[in-house]
Amino acid sequence: MKISDLQLSQVNDRINALISAGSFYGKKLEDAGITHVSNQEEFEKLPFSEKKDLRDAYPLGLMTAPEEEIVRIHSSSGTTGLPVIIPYTAKDVDDWAIMFRRCYETAGITNTDRIQITPGYGLWTAGIGFQNGAEKLGAMVIPMGPGNTEKQLQMMQDMKSTVLCSTSSYALLLAEEIQKRGIKDRIHLKKGVIGSERWGEKMRKRIQEELGIELYDIYGLTEIYGPGIGINCKYDTGMHYWDDYIYIEIIDPVTLKPVPDGQMGEIVITTLVKEGAPLIRYRTHDLSMIIPGECPCGSRYPRLGTIMGRTDDMMKIKGVNVFPSQIEEVLKEFTELSSEYQIRISHLEGKDTMRIYVETNGTVDFVELSGRIAERVKSRIGFTPLVKVVEIGVLPRSEKKTKRVIDERYE
Ligand code: ZN
Repeated sequence: MKISDLQLSQVNDRINALISAGSFYGKKLEDAGITHVSNQEEFEKLPFSEKKDLRDAYPLGLMTAPEEEIVRIHSSSGTTGLPVIIPYTAKDVDDWAIMFRRCYETAGITNTDRIQITPGYGLWTAGIGFQNGAEKLGAMVIPMGPGNTEKQLQMMQDMKSTVLCSTSSYALLLAEEIQKRGIKDRIHLKKGVIGSERWGEKMRKRIQEELGIELYDIYGLTEIYGPGIGINCKYDTGMHYWDDYIYIEIIDPVTLKPVPDGQMGEIVITTLVKEGAPLIRYRTHDLSMIIPGECPCGSRYPRLGTIMGRTDDMMKIKGVNVFPSQIEEVLKEFTELSSEYQIRISHLEGKDTMRIYVETNGTVDFVELSGRIAERVKSRIGFTPLVKVVEIGVLPRSEKKTKRVIDERYE
């Protein structure tokens, strides 16, 4: 997705603000000798920003607008070291609500819906983002916050909530409780807006079936406003994202060069109008791709594919970047396989080799099946693996998360 002239001029405004605020990024730019970009090529020379930069700026080093204009901060979780503090101006808060309203609208949610919000409130961007967007839309908000399933279900019935905003795991828990209690006919939910976690197709199906609702994936991260920068529409062909607020590039996480639309890589985000803490070329480490072409819904907003994992999961085989989730996607197409598989990467006779072990029952021709799988991987991902088909039960199983990828090159 090429950067437009309008987007370029917005980037230049952000560059000026960052330099005059003397922020970490302003300094990076000065070190790189860049104070202005006038085309794609120049934009792609701008230094990246990383989570580490944001942590180093703790507590308020990201603040780019004058203090009197900052109305709020949010913080991302600090599982390792210091958290990240993101300051927002009133305009940032409003822009975020506008984007979030657009998300609801894209999901076909209107001002006559009743939206039950279960993500947390507070330093997190979750709950309040869902709320501000819903209020902007004019819908009725039921601001529950997380937990207290008893009360959630009571309010869901009494208030006749039509939309559930939640994490996938909590949606599943609620779905199971509803089924267990046999109260499905007293639930009025039609749609679920699900954010913040990676979730599998199986889980999605279960929630969808048990609750009988349409599900929408919302994308976002605290560093870039919060949830609400993109969502899928009813055609479910990827998540539309709001390119009047953010510019997205997909880069090869190894060479750091942009990849063409339709190719998997790391999502890098530039905020175009953010005031409190603008970010330029922020590496999310989330893996996805820009989906080329137009969506049947007719939306003019570009699309991002499903988040396929994190860059840390990436493997490089014969010069091709591969992610375990891509292999998993291919394997899922073969109904004769069990859900277990193992990927082994080794360096044999000067070449990187990927072996994929899969399981099936004795009724199929192992050789023929392995040939078909190898061919499919080749056509989808671009290299030919060695596929070994084994009897069901042969691959190791463990109570904990099974280790599915073994890289023997570094052992
Ligand atoms: Zn669409």
